[in-house]
Amino acid sequence: MRIHIALDECEAHGMCALHEPDLYELDDDGYAADADFPVPQGMEAAARNGASRCPMSAIKVVED
Ligand code: SF4
Repeated sequence: MRIHIALDECEAHGMCALHEPDLYELDDDGYAADADFPVPQGMEAAARNGASRCPMSAIKVVED
């Protein structure tokens, strides 16, 4: 499983990192830090939860 974040759609609301800080990271300006990263085993539910919190629907959880 991977996470894809459309950085051009991110508006720095920070909801992903607020709800799932162990998975989602923000840069110094509050925008999502990474556009594409793997989901560690056991964090699949956290990945989906964080994605569902994004008010811009910028986060996609992609099954391998
Ligand atoms: S919740 Fe969405 S808009 Fe907010 S920082 Fe995360 S990716 Fe960006």
